[in-house]
Amino acid sequence: MAAETVPGQALKTDLFIGGEFVPAVSGKRFATTNPATGETLGEVAEAGREDLDRAVAAARATLESGPWASMKPRERGRILIRAAEMLLSRAEELGRVETLDNGKPIFESAKIDMPAAADALSYFGESADKLYGDTFPGRPDAMLLTLREPVGVVGAITPWNFPLLQAMWKIAPALALGNTVVLKPASLTPLTALLFADLLREAGLPAGAFNVVTGPGSTVGQAMAEHPGIDKVSFTGETGTGKKILRAAAATMKRVSMELGGKSPNVVFADADLEAAAKGAINAIFYGKGELCSAGSRLLVEESVHDALLERVVDRAKKMVPADPLHPKTRLGALVSEKQRETVEAYVTSGKSEGAKVVAGGNRASVDGKGAFFEATVFDGVRPDMKIAREEIFGPVLATLTFADEAEAVAVGNSTIYGLAAAVWTRDVKKALRTAKALKAGTVWVNAYNLYDPGLPFGGYKESGFGRERGRYALEEYTQVKSVWVDLS
Ligand code: NAD
Repeated sequence: MAAETVPGQALKTDLFIGGEFVPAVSGKRFATTNPATGETLGEVAEAGREDLDRAVAAARATLESGPWASMKPRERGRILIRAAEMLLSRAEELGRVETLDNGKPIFESAKIDMPAAADALSYFGESADKLYGDTFPGRPDAMLLTLREPVGVVGAITPWNFPLLQAMWKIAPALALGNTVVLKPASLTPLTALLFADLLREAGLPAGAFNVVTGPGSTVGQAMAEHPGIDKVSFTGETGTGKKILRAAAATMKRVSMELGGKSPNVVFADADLEAAAKGAINAIFYGKGELCSAGSRLLVEESVHDALLERVVDRAKKMVPADPLHPKTRLGALVSEKQRETVEAYVTSGKSEGAKVVAGGNRASVDGKGAFFEATVFDGVRPDMKIAREEIFGPVLATLTFADEAEAVAVGNSTIYGLAAAVWTRDVKKALRTAKALKAGTVWVNAYNLYDPGLPFGGYKESGFGRERGRYALEEYTQVKSVWVDLS
């Protein structure tokens, strides 16, 4: 494996507050490491309450006065579009940093995540002046209208699986609509958010509109949820963390949106194109090393095609060999941390002890003797009551279950606390649409998996959260409605 990391001067490791990189008041720092090698990439500033206070004060001042507060929406949009172009031109460089920090294949970070993040920026940049209020023709003696106004200071708290991309789904619509943002990236992967702060500054974003505080969720994240100066918390992460944030946000009646975990069913009917379904099942669980909120972690197969489908899936899974994330041909990188690998391994042990059968992978792996790698793992003979069928593993582990008919497919599909995504594979249009309607999930793919568009909303049913990212719905999430009554009598 290439021992080379990033040249130190290419990284930003201080907090970004009021348009400047500054160390934490306490002087504390924490290490961020490359999970593929164990090497330290940098020592990042660890924000405390006082740093958060400064970031919130900067965001509040910028929201209320100065160039950002008086800027035309279209000009805000232009800054974001400029930033999108810059991000696209630096996709290789930022993708490389993402790969080093997260362990994901460079193919994903440079060719998919960074272009998708740029897409989000340009989509919302173009939308900056396209969310309208209404007028109501109800009364001859008054003009009744609504205005869409920014929510205010937005606290964005994001996970480590798609570090910059997840943040962008919050930053781009929030800024497009005139809010200001304080971002707290996950401690495991703080590097690209800081580089992006620098890029936004270069693109012309006024100081204070975007701020980054790096540090642990249990301290600085929790403080954001409680902070009286933050008007909305937009969170992506685990369902358990989301519940803590909801409780903390209640004290100040903050607006909240929650993008949480999943245990998504990928339903394959007997009449499906099995080759396409097998390919889709592999992409559904192994893209992003399975550290994907929408991972198709439960493969639900109609009994009569179980053997034919599984043979294809296992064949493909065995070819997904963990390899150097920096190699352009790698499709399965390192898990984000040693701790995450222990979690995944514990689930594999639990699956075996509950009677499921490992038919591919199942073991730790390494590259050049190093790294938090894990084999592409497929379980067969899984029952809906097993832990590996109910809980989010967040790793490259697929649970295969069978069903006898459409009703059972839907019942098993809906049998977890989650409802983030689902897919159905069939050549029968009516069956596809019936199943898509019956599955309780925020996104349902038909004969596809893991496809996204900036215009199509994404979010959860049930304990996968509420609120929507992307599209018109995201614009609504970052505005509030003011009604105006103009007396004409
Ligand atoms: P996590 O909940 O551990 O952490 C997410 C963020 O919350 C991090 O920045 C963390 O530091 C912070 N945090 C932790 N404790 C906090 C607290 N008490 N108060 C405030 N902030 C706190 O999640 P993770 O392990 O980083 O990410 C994996 C999870 O994210 C999975 O459950 C996955 O399904 C979910 N996810 C969901 C989506 C979606 O769109 N629905 C997308 C990606 C990931």
